[in-house]
Amino acid sequence: MSIQTVNPSTNKRVKSFEEMTAKTVDAKVAQAQLAFVDWKKTSYQQRALLLHKVATLMRVKKFELAKTITLEMGKLIAQAEGEIDLSADIFDYYADHGETFLADKALDTEYGSAIVRNSPIGVLLGVMPWNFPYYQVARFAAPNIMVGNTILLKHASIVPQCAAAIEALFEEAEAPEGLYTNLFVTGKHASALVSDKRIKGVSLTGSEEAGASIAVEAGKHLKKVVLELGGNDVFIILEDADMEKTVEWAVVGRMNNNGQCCVASKRFIAVEAIADEFIKKFKDKLSKMKLGDPMDPATTLGPLSSEEAAVHLANQVKRSVDEGAKVLLGGKRADREGAFMEPTILTDLKPGNTAYHEELFGPVASFYVVKDEQAAIALANDSDFGLGASIFTQDIERGRKIADQIDTGMVFINHPTWTQADLPFGGTKRSGFGRELSALGIQEFVNKKLIRVSALDDPF
Ligand code: NAP
Repeated sequence: MSIQTVNPSTNKRVKSFEEMTAKTVDAKVAQAQLAFVDWKKTSYQQRALLLHKVATLMRVKKFELAKTITLEMGKLIAQAEGEIDLSADIFDYYADHGETFLADKALDTEYGSAIVRNSPIGVLLGVMPWNFPYYQVARFAAPNIMVGNTILLKHASIVPQCAAAIEALFEEAEAPEGLYTNLFVTGKHASALVSDKRIKGVSLTGSEEAGASIAVEAGKHLKKVVLELGGNDVFIILEDADMEKTVEWAVVGRMNNNGQCCVASKRFIAVEAIADEFIKKFKDKLSKMKLGDPMDPATTLGPLSSEEAAVHLANQVKRSVDEGAKVLLGGKRADREGAFMEPTILTDLKPGNTAYHEELFGPVASFYVVKDEQAAIALANDSDFGLGASIFTQDIERGRKIADQIDTGMVFINHPTWTQADLPFGGTKRSGFGRELSALGIQEFVNKKLIRVSALDDPF
């Protein structure tokens, strides 16, 4: 794949970028390494100042940055502006709390004294996806810059203008050269970078295939890796759910970001007693979605990120139907130019069906009816993924007990799985490992160094 901006609303190419040569990449890695030598000696106050500056610039340029997201991957403009706000919040959050999160920890030890000190480890490589072009970078870069590490960022090839804009924000904030570096490198060349001795850790958010490819290299070269991969989140509706509000959240959970969130609600599981009522209302709302230009505030469903993504999703739906699924709504590409897919609901899904097992990354909901709560839990856990889950019930204690039995990294009660700076984010099973955001996300790429002071006559 080449590095280019293609507007998915029209499928017209807007701008192409040259992939960096091996020599250029080498020079950039060297610069990041050089920057680390000084950056690791800076105080938390200096680091926080820089992060705050980046956050402020993001807010000042919000509309301009948001437009780049909408142009390159089709997010509705209001959601794109929301993404910039969220990203700025993440920069501010780590600037405000990073020092506390990284403070020395005194250990209770029998003799002398001992502390664990969090030290930076060096140059890190981030490999990021297009679906939240600023937020994904913020949640990796902000905590690690606060730690004292330096960042090389290989962004998805379909969002090069977003990638360049983030680097420009750091330049404008007067970050030292090499602290944050954009690498125009395609996915097929990204894994090879992991072998570079100057790179000490790697974080990838994306598909299982890309994650496995990076993890193989990280394993071979004994480097720490964090993987945030795909999901097939459930949205469980129990008989005591508040139906009106639940249906509203179901639409948001599935259709936010034109259906392309790793934590989107993808499998809707309703208990028998309320299944008919839920699906009637849900279908009604999805059928009224207004497809169109994501820059138009009246649009409620934009295109997928690329023609390739739309073709892939339509194929998954077709395969599912060929294997026995029924289409309750939509099911086809929308009859218009651009990478659009109709809002779709699939039913009658059984083990072995494509939609039962695979992640459907777009406006396609899978609907299941189960007898009771236990059957809902069993179905929820019958997945290779383990990212997020949501449960709708007015009985919060019941919700908590169910949450305990669901095998995912995150469970939300009465809300679709979502994200904010102070909540840890990450999965289990094939959804990856490691955590981002909150106090946990800043601990992934640090050397937890023990410093022990003994009296010379302490026992051996
Ligand atoms: P993708 O194809 O895996 O791309 C993600 C990044 O990996 C891109 O920068 C891509 O570069 C790079 N890449 C692709 N193949 C690679 C390889 N063999 N070695 C190293 N890097 C490689 O994923 P996507 O389709 O853009 O994103 C959608 C997926 O990401 C979904 O599965 C979604 O659930 C997941 N996701 C997960 C989270 C989470 O936090 N768990 C968040 C968002 C998205 P190129 O663009 O140059 O190919």
